[in-house]
Amino acid sequence: MKVDPESATAGVFQKLTAQARKAYPNRNAGLVAVDAVRKASQSSLEEGLEYETIRVNECKQSVESRGAVHVFFAERDSRRVPGLDNAASAAPVKSAGVIGAGTMGAGIAVCFANAGIPVTMVDANTPALERGIDSLNRTYQGMVDKGRITAGEKAQRMGLIRPSLHYGELRDADVVVEAVFESMDLKKQIFTKLNGIAKRGAVLATNTSTLDIEIIADSTSRPGDVIGMHFFAPANVMPLLEVVRTSRTSATTIRTVMELAKRIRKTPVLARVCYGFIGNRMMEGYAREAERMVLEGATPRQVDGALEEWGMAMGILAVFDMAGIEVGVNVHRANATRYPADPTYYQADFALHEAGRMGQKNGKGYYRYEAGNRSRFDDPDAVEILRQRAHVLGIETRNHSTEEIQQRCLYPLLNEGFRILGEGIAMRAADIDVVWTSGYGFPRYRGGPMFHAETMGLPALLAGIHEYRDVFGRMHWEPAPLLVELVERGIRIADWEREQQGEGALA
Ligand code: NAD
Repeated sequence: MKVDPESATAGVFQKLTAQARKAYPNRNAGLVAVDAVRKASQSSLEEGLEYETIRVNECKQSVESRGAVHVFFAERDSRRVPGLDNAASAAPVKSAGVIGAGTMGAGIAVCFANAGIPVTMVDANTPALERGIDSLNRTYQGMVDKGRITAGEKAQRMGLIRPSLHYGELRDADVVVEAVFESMDLKKQIFTKLNGIAKRGAVLATNTSTLDIEIIADSTSRPGDVIGMHFFAPANVMPLLEVVRTSRTSATTIRTVMELAKRIRKTPVLARVCYGFIGNRMMEGYAREAERMVLEGATPRQVDGALEEWGMAMGILAVFDMAGIEVGVNVHRANATRYPADPTYYQADFALHEAGRMGQKNGKGYYRYEAGNRSRFDDPDAVEILRQRAHVLGIETRNHSTEEIQQRCLYPLLNEGFRILGEGIAMRAADIDVVWTSGYGFPRYRGGPMFHAETMGLPALLAGIHEYRDVFGRMHWEPAPLLVELVERGIRIADWEREQQGEGALA
């Protein structure tokens, strides 16, 4: 920050303080920086430096500092997989294949090409392949237009991607990532075919978001080579890669993918198979409450606003509009038997979808959008559709404070994190923090969901869940066994993790 001492008036600092508050909401460090400069401009150099040191040391003790430092180290640690056979080492990856040239497939192909890895991109028919090539072209042209790469680099990277209609061309690939429609039958067919084509030892990965990878692995004679590589949209931009091992995935396959993640500049987090893995499984309850609250009479803006004020990069209803309302509807339809028998479950999505509202793609979702503009506008039509659905379902209207919205969304999210940790789906609490900060817009300065649970205090979280259970019943508000255990024993997550590693935790 450059401030001329002559012009360092109170008004200037007020303006800078307001700017820092706007640029870094919920945080103190920016305000402290302005304050340190203010002090320096009004005193001697020595006094200014002394004051700055005191304030910086204060900042280091803050949650925002500790949270960000925690995430920084957690991201570096996430590649470490304890307990793997030491004799197994990562296999070299010289070439790759992608099956499906859609939204995800094209983005994944870009990840490989950007890392200098030649990739064959296979789709089932010419129009789909052409759409994929078009999308690659647009992605790279966007990078050229923004000055990130030169036209020559674009040509070179495009040259590394070989579009094809023939599965046989995947025979030399060291890694193949399948990214076709989310259908178990289709994925089984593809893995059966791949089993007959891919070279020995090739990693056979699926980008599925919801399907059971154990079953996909069963359609091959080499389940040790099968793994989930769950990229996030847009695949070439989002840093998170959930790596999902089945009960049979080999140590070599895991190591190969964790190493590959580094090359393609992803932050990998290893998970075990369950519905939704780490990230989407935790999103379920978080989004469920958001949808339920708009049926109880909160407006979409009220719900999203409360979440954004708390620090989420984007409110979840706006996220649904961006992803397409039908995406959530299809997932919930296909998995209806997995969810609690609650007739109000995800009914906000269903109501909007039945009214032809697809989200940003047709300008109508939880909000209204104007052509060529991603700004959200409040839409009384959407509110009326939600009101009518709530009436049919007999949902009572409530008033929602900002605090209630934040708690009702965040408590289920944190609670599920404890289930995921307790069940061993995630290796470490810190991995869960990485998933949500690098893939779901959870504020880094709050350190991720598990770090935040400890910041607020596990007893306070448990008490909060109990309070909502008293209002809304047990169906959705049962605390995770691990959370209850930690509170009863009065220990921290790290103590429990050390116990699990057999180191004898409690000093
Ligand atoms: P998409 O509809 O954009 O693309 C799917 C592509 O697969 C199409 O181009 C289609 O022609 C092709 N395809 C279909 N059958 C094929 C076959 N037999 N052989 C080769 N290609 C075939 O879908 P998407 O959004 O890219 O999703 C792909 C996968 O990624 C799904 O499993 C999805 O759950 C998962 N996923 C999607 C997202 C997302 O946000 N879109 C995020 C994470 C994971």
